[in-house]
Amino acid sequence: MNRKDFLKLLALSPLAIASMKLNELSLIAQEMSLTEKMPLLFLGHGSPMNAIEENEFVTGFRNIAKTIQKPKAILCISAHWETNGTYVTAMDNPRTIHDFGGFPKELYQVQYAASGDPTLAKDTQSLISKTEVGLDDKWGLDHGAWSVIKHLYPKADVPVIQLSMDRTQSAQYHYELAKEISSLRDKGILIIGSGNMVHNLRLVAWNRMNDDDYAYDWAKEAGQKMKDFILDGDHKRLINYRNEGKAFDLAIPTPEHYLPLIYILGLKEAKEQVQLFNDKAVAGSLTMTSVKIDKA
Ligand code: ZN
Repeated sequence: MNRKDFLKLLALSPLAIASMKLNELSLIAQEMSLTEKMPLLFLGHGSPMNAIEENEFVTGFRNIAKTIQKPKAILCISAHWETNGTYVTAMDNPRTIHDFGGFPKELYQVQYAASGDPTLAKDTQSLISKTEVGLDDKWGLDHGAWSVIKHLYPKADVPVIQLSMDRTQSAQYHYELAKEISSLRDKGILIIGSGNMVHNLRLVAWNRMNDDDYAYDWAKEAGQKMKDFILDGDHKRLINYRNEGKAFDLAIPTPEHYLPLIYILGLKEAKEQVQLFNDKAVAGSLTMTSVKIDKA
């Protein structure tokens, strides 16, 4: 029963309601709350160590989860899953992928045992008309997904699927493709983009790792402009980021950490509001700036 039918029933037949069992009513209430439009998140994931460290960013992830009703499932677009063509993970039990090198053993031992959601994978596949979407049974959850979702839902009790990014396509293409899955938001699905707005690993200031909010001038400039464009709703300039000059070129040497943001902006509806959190730089050339988009 959808909300409209329920309201009709409520108006026409109070007796029918009175005769319903309590558990039936609570099921309907649950279903109704899941039809509220879910917010959107872009999460700056930064170092994989954020998966096991306690720091202000992890606290930021936990706090934002508290502001969101528990989703039925999550669809994650991660910087770490680029493919030729577009795929969705469609297995029942995605494995935890430790797709990084040179970190402490403890990090490789993390298992995030969220289940998959093959039905959601198929729904996503059928919503996208821009391209043929493949159902994937080999990927799983890469660290772009699990290192942050772990803090949102530590019990791993929300199913997670990933949507890959076609590495051959432009930002404009990703922005438009994102729009095709917007109806999932009305079905209790939380869509998360996981990357970093400013992300240049080659220029990381390793000796400034522990300096609070330390950013190179170009990282500050690009980071500030990105935030201004997001808050002003100027998506065009964010899509055409290669026209923004040197600071953006240094901030986005390759697009994979930036594009998950483009998905989230593509999904934003005109009247929704934007909230920034974890808005800090790390080690000169990374920003953790994260975004929540929700009804005003
Ligand atoms: Zn990453």
